[in-house]
Amino acid sequence: MTASPPTRLTIDLAAVCTNWRRMAQRIAPAECAAVVKANAYGLGAEKVGPALYGVGARTFFTAHLEEAVALRSVLPRDASISVLNGLLPGTEAIYQDYGLTPVLNDLGQVTLWSKRATAEAAALAAFLQIDTGMHRMGMDVGEFRTLLAEPERLAGIDVSALMSHLACADDGDHPLTLQQYNRFKTAQTDLARSLGRTVSGSLANSAGLWRDTALVGDLARPGCALYGVQPCNDLVADIENPVRLEAQIIQVRTLETAGQIGYGATRTLPAGSRVATIPVGYADGYLRSIGDQACVLLDGRRIPLVGRVSMDLITLDVSAIPESVAVPGRWVDVIGSETSPDRLAAMAGTIGYEILTSLGSRYDRHYV
Ligand SMILES: *Cc1c(COP(=O)(O)O)cnc(C)c1O
Repeated sequence: MTASPPTRLTIDLAAVCTNWRRMAQRIAPAECAAVVKANAYGLGAEKVGPALYGVGARTFFTAHLEEAVALRSVLPRDASISVLNGLLPGTEAIYQDYGLTPVLNDLGQVTLWSKRATAEAAALAAFLQIDTGMHRMGMDVGEFRTLLAEPERLAGIDVSALMSHLACADDGDHPLTLQQYNRFKTAQTDLARSLGRTVSGSLANSAGLWRDTALVGDLARPGCALYGVQPCNDLVADIENPVRLEAQIIQVRTLETAGQIGYGATRTLPAGSRVATIPVGYADGYLRSIGDQACVLLDGRRIPLVGRVSMDLITLDVSAIPESVAVPGRWVDVIGSETSPDRLAAMAGTIGYEILTSLGSRYDRHYV
């Protein structure tokens, strides 16, 4: 006999695909890629990847080489899989064996890939990443100038696109976005001139794509918006939340006298109050910093949390719910239409990305 767990994390792959399609339509004829790093933001790259391929996605980005290798085993060969973190020395053969496309983030990586191409007498695809103001990844201005002056450094490399990453596209007022865009367009023009042919560009993440399609260029790289996380703090993107977390009530008690609830005894409820406990805690990604501001849904009714989030448990004040409803075994909606990952994130002082990537670790995921 297998125990069925008292929690259920359900991923609606159709909603992920709908989100991708809406973005692909929004930016057509530019291409819409899919960023599936960190196991598709916790939702499961081995399911999300093929589902998105099925609706037309052909370009995928991971953060790590290992993630890309794993993804290759579930995606057909005509899917391009790229590794954002770059080409580390000694890994060239792995890229070739699995048909992966490196993102070249400095001149050393350009040299490695060009040498490989020359040795194999083959044209090898790669993205070239430049830094336009985030100062995290990609060639800096000096390196890029060297490349423009010595384009033979790219011998054997088939440049899929020049790319860069926006630091502040989520924030409508931030001047850096336009600065990055202008630097990027100049760099793209300069590279085309230096190579004597046009070069595709890829600048926008989810926030850039929803803020202004002019930021996209030829290839958008959305991540969070595929998974229902709103990318911009000043506009609402037309996307759906594919994540639902449910848990069963595992114990219910009635307080005989007024009593304090949970670690730190932070909350006191009057005599006669009823408290239900469910097996979701911060070890599951239900962040402790959510505090007890959140609600769950029981039988369509909003139930407030009471007391601190424990490692494996949270407590609910079910005093207002009929005794026949708040009973062990009843399923409670913890995350879903009522409480999105974004809402929980706001309560916890973080972003929806962190909620999603934290959720993935402990639960069995079910796909619909
Ligand atoms: C993570 C990442 C993305 C996707 O960003 P979202 O904000 O999740 O859309 C795109 N490009 C790069 C380089 C990234 O690191």
